[in-house]
Amino acid sequence: MYTFEFARAGSIDDAANIHELNPDARYIAGGQTLIPTLKQRLTKPPMLIDIRNVADLKGIHRGGTSVGIGALATHREIAASEDLRAACPALCHLASEIADPAIRSRGTIGGSLANNDPSADWPAAILALGATIVTNKRKIIADDYFKGLFTTALTSGELITGIGFQLPEKAGYAKFAQPASRFALVGVFVAKFANTVRVAVTGASESGVFRASEIEKALNADFSVVALAGQKVPASGLLSDLHGPADYRAALIPVMAERAVTAALS
Ligand SMILES: Cc1cc2nc3c(=O)[nH]c(=O)nc-3n(C[C@H](O)[C@H](O)[C@H](O)COP(=O)(O)OP(=O)(O)OC[C@H]3O[C@@H](n4cnc5c(N)ncnc54)[C@H](O)[C@@H]3O)c2cc1C
Repeated sequence: MYTFEFARAGSIDDAANIHELNPDARYIAGGQTLIPTLKQRLTKPPMLIDIRNVADLKGIHRGGTSVGIGALATHREIAASEDLRAACPALCHLASEIADPAIRSRGTIGGSLANNDPSADWPAAILALGATIVTNKRKIIADDYFKGLFTTALTSGELITGIGFQLPEKAGYAKFAQPASRFALVGVFVAKFANTVRVAVTGASESGVFRASEIEKALNADFSVVALAGQKVPASGLLSDLHGPADYRAALIPVMAERAVTAALS
């Protein structure tokens, strides 16, 4: 094991100040991505800043038509939230299908969004909902946040504090999971608002989560499974790896979109 410093932050400002003094340090939340990365020596930060005790990063809050989720909310907490189940059950469903119980108990929505794995589930929901990612410095709309493979708009030391969004009228999520990790080979989140439908796809692209404009067009005209009949997605630019070639992922996207719409309408 190589040595590194460990600091425990007591507040958002405390975390940011420690980072300012140690610019190569990394925040650690659930550790479900960072710890395996450290073990494999893929990264060797000189310091970890533990943010798990920061009370202002916790909780799930529902307003009238809006929801705020703290960066430290675990997948398990979100899956079990009665407030969210009443407001947007698709989010509870998505959270309940992440990985396994141990990872869901520790992994956080903030950590997942900061990491922006191209096969992670949360990016699809956050982009489709047009959510706002709130940091200690600013608010970033989802359309401006996801910048590509493991890349986001976050700057060095910027801490995600939470996520906010307006509740959709209906929403659904469907994923075709890699059977061992449960990461998405293809995951599609559909969100219907009063004036628009937004659809985001995870797992399928070399550049991470993206909006499916043709599927959005069809669902804006008619929010039904029938509206998606005959939808074809080109395989160019999609991910090919040992789990599946690009044309397989392309074929899965409309199928997952249909299942997401079915879930949204059920
Ligand atoms: C075997 C396995 C299977 C998995 N399956 C799935 C799956 O099916 N679907 C899925 O979506 N994910 C899956 N994951 C990933 C899992 O959801 C992680 O919980 C998540 O990616 C990272 O959250 P964390 O809280 O553990 O972050 P950490 O590991 O603590 O941190 C990850 C990164 O985010 C940074 N970070 C953490 N919190 C913040 C913050 N608030 N602000 C800024 N930066 C921050 C850290 O510095 C680090 O760079 C899987 C992971 C494993 C190991």
